[in-house]
Amino acid sequence: MLQIDKNLAELTADLINIPSVSLSEKDLADQIQTALATLATLEVTRIENTLIAKTNFNFSSRVILAGHLDTVPANQNQEAIISQDSILGLGAVDMKSGIAVMLKLAQVVQEFKKDVTFLFYEAEEIESKYNGLEKVAQKNPEFLLGDFAVLLEPTNAILEMGCQGSIRFKISIKGSRAHSARWWKGENAIHKAQTILEIVNNYQPRTPIIEQLTFREGLQIVAINGGIAGNVVPDLVEISLNHRFAPDRTEAQAIAHLTELFADFEIEILDVAIAAPVSLDNPLVSEFVKQIDLPLAPKFGWTDVARFSKLNIPAINFGPGDPNLAHHPQEAVEITQLDTVFQRLSTWLKK
Ligand SMILES: [Zn+2]
Repeated sequence: MLQIDKNLAELTADLINIPSVSLSEKDLADQIQTALATLATLEVTRIENTLIAKTNFNFSSRVILAGHLDTVPANQNQEAIISQDSILGLGAVDMKSGIAVMLKLAQVVQEFKKDVTFLFYEAEEIESKYNGLEKVAQKNPEFLLGDFAVLLEPTNAILEMGCQGSIRFKISIKGSRAHSARWWKGENAIHKAQTILEIVNNYQPRTPIIEQLTFREGLQIVAINGGIAGNVVPDLVEISLNHRFAPDRTEAQAIAHLTELFADFEIEILDVAIAAPVSLDNPLVSEFVKQIDLPLAPKFGWTDVARFSKLNIPAINFGPGDPNLAHHPQEAVEITQLDTVFQRLSTWLKK
């Protein structure tokens, strides 16, 4: 059984050793639920494999601390290895270390001067319909209410502000089929794709500075599908693209930008994840930034902070582990980062 009174490094290793690949989080959720049940100050609710643990001290503000339980599939790194200064293993960075920090904070909630809702949620790494926060939003949205949210996703133990949005879309180019020996009878759709490649290769992504942080947009072709047989002029090519956009643009503005960029083509939007603002002008955010007193950086990847922003709850990414090592076979987290995130958060929560 999971022992949350162990130190942060040992607890992280124990969490790594309970496999929890997306859609297989039950065992980990069971063990965390059992461990949380020993903490009398927390009211624990379970929705499938998502655990919500709340204090009800009636303080004037409520903080949400959130982390996902799932990992990507193992890559010969399932077993945790503790070295002198780091812990290696699947999810060490993304994000068993953040979960360990949350559990250690749950252990000392009696000392806090803010109410806290811990959200240990399932299925963040896969399609959003499985996401535990999405399910809580649908079934019990009251559990997501709070004044401020911290996502303990890996940030190298600095504050990563906002997050960029993401649009997946597809462009289909049509031609007409013919025998390749009499190619002039047809129209090659793959050849026509050249225009799209040129647009993408010549694209100058914006690097907008938002509240002193430099974001970096992107436009990438992520797949091309086309071709019928070795002797057929293809009549269709489908190009899949991914656009990452900074938080100074809304979903509608980002789509309008793509529509204009590919004006001669029809684009099919596959899914959109909205960006989250930096929100340094929000008093809760600025107070948090001041108290935590660590460097600030923009968040390039999409995280669930956007989900809280949509609910008008300011949210920040702050967690142990180098995000460049997330999903990497050599995923490892430095023990000093575990301690930093725990210390800074607990000091802030006690004020
Ligand atoms: Zn993650």
